[in-house]
Amino acid sequence: MSTFALKQLPTSALTMFVSIIALCIAFMVWTLFMRADLDLISLTNWSDVSWQIAEVDSRGRLVRLGSHPFALALLFGFVTAGCLSFAWGAWHFFNGKGQTQREADEKLSAKLEKVGEELDEEVLLVMRLLKQHLDLSGSHSEALEKVSDSLLAASSPERIRSIVQFLIDENNRVKSEVNELNIRLQLSQQQIDKLRVSLSDSHRLGMLDAVTSLKNRHWLEVNLPKEVQTATDANDPLSIIMADVDHFKRINDTFGHAVGDEILRRFAELLSKNIKGRDTAARYGGEEFVVILPQTKLAGAKNLGEQIRSELECKKWMHHRTGQPIGKVTASFGVAELRSGEGCDDFLDRADAKLYEAKANGRNCVIIDE
Ligand code: GH3
Ligand code: MG
Ligand code: MG
Repeated sequence: MSTFALKQLPTSALTMFVSIIALCIAFMVWTLFMRADLDLISLTNWSDVSWQIAEVDSRGRLVRLGSHPFALALLFGFVTAGCLSFAWGAWHFFNGKGQTQREADEKLSAKLEKVGEELDEEVLLVMRLLKQHLDLSGSHSEALEKVSDSLLAASSPERIRSIVQFLIDENNRVKSEVNELNIRLQLSQQQIDKLRVSLSDSHRLGMLDAVTSLKNRHWLEVNLPKEVQTATDANDPLSIIMADVDHFKRINDTFGHAVGDEILRRFAELLSKNIKGRDTAARYGGEEFVVILPQTKLAGAKNLGEQIRSELECKKWMHHRTGQPIGKVTASFGVAELRSGEGCDDFLDRADAKLYEAKANGRNCVIIDE
């Protein structure tokens, strides 16, 4: 088994595996100690195993244990511990599969966040370097201007020589600073390339939606419970908006899936454009989206839902290749604010119920759970 495969195995499966190995070793060691004729080949022959734990009298009755009581106690303890750890491993293996998946998801999500932060830092650094470049060329042109003034006023050859010397020094200074900046820019470029690979790995591993590049359902399942927990602990408001594009099937059927996908992308952009700070938009599935709004009360979430709804309603769509008009695209919204002590599933269910109501209400509207 490769180390990679070992890393993939849950701890519970490893515990089961180790328990079985430990029990087998205990059995073998005990057999070796108990047997009068120690040879490994006969160990494989079960019928030949002569256990000598007890002695039997002439009438065939068991009269004495043939092992030291301490050794027996040790064996008993060892076997019990092996069985218990096997049972523990088995219980966790069969009941804790979701747990293992969640742990993996949390790790992936943390990695994504870390890579994002590192990328931000690197981009900031590049911006700073570029600013340094600009400052440097600014100071260089200022120096050149001064020199040109001095040249005009220079009267003696010594003065001209000193100005030329100054120009050479200035040129060398700029050259070495530019070289240094270039090296640092190259390092940043390499770091950004590495982070980009890391980000695309995370993308591949499934935290981002391939069509819209928003966070996906997987991400939501890992992170919404965390947001709920954070809001509950800090007693902060937390709201969510559930949005669903209206009559999306009709759009697909009339204009094709490629147009449907493009509309999903545009809708995702609209959501992203309208949120800020710690707010997150995620694709819940199909043409359904969830917006998580930490530190936001119901009224604020309703306003945001209304803003997105009206902005979408105002757009007129057209097929980009054929020019065929698609008309208006609308969406319905359900909004809920976390209640005290409420769990993640109930919270989502309430927003979903309101979205359902918005659909029943004629679509293209926002309904809040008051
Ligand atoms: P409603 O207003 O009640 O929400 O009606 P609807 O047509 O939007 O909803 P319905 O659930 O009937 O249809 C959703 C459609 O979304 C069906 C499915 O083919 C389509 N769909 C789901 N995922 C994607 C996707 O990634 N791309 C495209 N183009 N279509 C998708
Ligand atoms: Mg729909
Ligand atoms: Mg739907």
